[in-house]
Amino acid sequence: MAVPGKAAAFRLPPLPTVGEIIKLFKLKAQKQLSQNFLLDLRLTDKIVKQAGELRSAHVCEVGPGPGGITRSILSAGVEHLLLIEKDARFIPGLQILSEAAPGKVHIVHGDILAYKMENAFPKRLKKNWEDEPPDIHIIGNLPFSVSTPLIVKWLENVSKKDGPFIYGRTQMTLTFQKEVAEVDVAVVHFTPLVEPKIQQPFKLVEKVVQSVFQFRRKYCFRGIATLFPESGRLERTEQLMMTANVDPTLRPYQLSMSQFRNLCNTYRKMCDEDPSLFVYNYREELRQRKKMRSLRKSTSQPEEPEEENQL
Ligand code: SAM
Repeated sequence: MAVPGKAAAFRLPPLPTVGEIIKLFKLKAQKQLSQNFLLDLRLTDKIVKQAGELRSAHVCEVGPGPGGITRSILSAGVEHLLLIEKDARFIPGLQILSEAAPGKVHIVHGDILAYKMENAFPKRLKKNWEDEPPDIHIIGNLPFSVSTPLIVKWLENVSKKDGPFIYGRTQMTLTFQKEVAEVDVAVVHFTPLVEPKIQQPFKLVEKVVQSVFQFRRKYCFRGIATLFPESGRLERTEQLMMTANVDPTLRPYQLSMSQFRNLCNTYRKMCDEDPSLFVYNYREELRQRKKMRSLRKSTSQPEEPEEENQL
């Protein structure tokens, strides 16, 4: 019996299991593409629950594959589900799901990294940034190789309020799988904040964070030093860390949010004083040195010391 005031959750008609779909369409997981499938619907229900209330939500699932998470999303009673899948082998299996939920599912065969999310949902769902998040959710279980660049892209979109965030503070529920392990999945739910914790341009924050984590097991000063060109590197690294009040012997993952904020704000001041600083790229310098070394080798000129000795 339906509970008064509560819409009954959507029930999919009897369907082949995800395992049967995999067999039917010979959907062998391609390990080189880090494809791992979640077959246990209790697990996919748990993942989808992390997204919160989905009844009448508009959801975009990235990388549905054989459709385990997709079924749990549909069972949660969503209004509309957009599926973006890169691998054509999964499309026929997803079409079976689409037919089981008439008018609810739209399948796109494409790459999420190229897909224009700003046009993915009806404009009427738009909310102001300061308001409650819109009834739009992104859900996905993607390999690390895709989820990492995707998260960086979406963080930049958050900072500019574009892409999926032209609709407001769109929420994301993403799983992070170990490359090949099938069982260990961490589910992370993100809701963009109204005010960013660090009030600096995204590219500057990205550069500082990437530099800090460059040598993730070493003391943080090693990574921070890569923000600066070789001449004056030590002094400028010390100046940055002292002003930002960061103990150089902390490991990157031990730094607090306020220390990252201090680092970004102080680095910003240093860049304003010396505009050549922001364009300095440590990795690029290493590449150039390597190129020079191999050129020298081929013309038998004396070598420069290895770059590892530079820091
Ligand atoms: N969601 C399914 C599950 O949990 O069983 C499949 C997970 S599998 C780890 C990742 C899925 O993402 C695969 O179906 C793969 O083809 C798809 N995929 C990988 N890269 C993608 C991309 N750039 N855009 C869209 N889908 C992608």
